[in-house]
Amino acid sequence: MTAGGTGPAGSLQARGVRRMYRRHRGPEVVHALAGVDLTVAEGERVGIVGASGSGKSTLLRLLLALEPVDAGEITYAARPIRPGGVRELRWYRRQVQYVPQDPAGSLDPRRRVADLVAEPLRRLRVDGDHRARAAEVLIAVGLEAGFLDRRPYQLSGGQCQRVAIARALAPGARMILADEPVSGLDLPLRQQVLAVLDEVCRTVGTGLVIVTHDLSVVSRLCDRGVVMDGGRIVEDAATADLLTRPAHPATRRLLDSIPRLLTA
Ligand code: ADP
Ligand code: MG
Repeated sequence: MTAGGTGPAGSLQARGVRRMYRRHRGPEVVHALAGVDLTVAEGERVGIVGASGSGKSTLLRLLLALEPVDAGEITYAARPIRPGGVRELRWYRRQVQYVPQDPAGSLDPRRRVADLVAEPLRRLRVDGDHRARAAEVLIAVGLEAGFLDRRPYQLSGGQCQRVAIARALAPGARMILADEPVSGLDLPLRQQVLAVLDEVCRTVGTGLVIVTHDLSVVSRLCDRGVVMDGGRIVEDAATADLLTRPAHPATRRLLDSIPRLLTA
């Protein structure tokens, strides 16, 4: 799959996307995104990497239709996606789901797993038997239907991560978008979240767009890496090429910051 193609049915695209912010004080503006083109094919796993301030989170927020673009267009399955259109967004959010930072930490410990996993089904008004659907996705993430009536504090850390990801899959999501889902977690939890994401994407065939400042996460999870610098995509390549033949200085700087992890 090449960037910028017309893309098959389930692909997510940004075309010529720009976003600027005004600084709180003074007339100065920040070009957070200065013209971004990106295509993520159905089932593809793409890592968006870059130094702090390079525009990664802005791009993800725009892909999630949480903010409008100033110029350009976001499409999913060739349909324009923008904030505000309630019906269109409900449809979109069934297909493309967000996984928060520290996925398990976002679970309300007082609620039962069935309730937690079914929450997006209620919110997005998905028809059908929500408990049955919750059981189905629990099984898809390697848990059993027996977990439905437990609460997060009765589960291990790894099981909680699975529940959090099951919740994103519940509405039938074809693609998961995550912004630094493991930053701030200690190493064992980090490994758990990455392992679960990896396994779920493989077994369910879900696409993934993961924002990270850490190339080792891309190396672990992604087919392709997109490097951002100053609000632009400066490199877009298969993960193996990015790691072994980085073309842009920004990519080389990111590689230099993780030498031990890659050779471990
Ligand atoms: P990253 O996620 O790669 O660290 P961001 O997308 O958060 O980068 O930010 C890109 C640039 O846009 C930065 O200069 C940041 O300060 C600026 N920016 C992002 N969001 C806002 C905002 N809501 N208001 C003002 N400036 C913002
Ligand atoms: Mg960010």
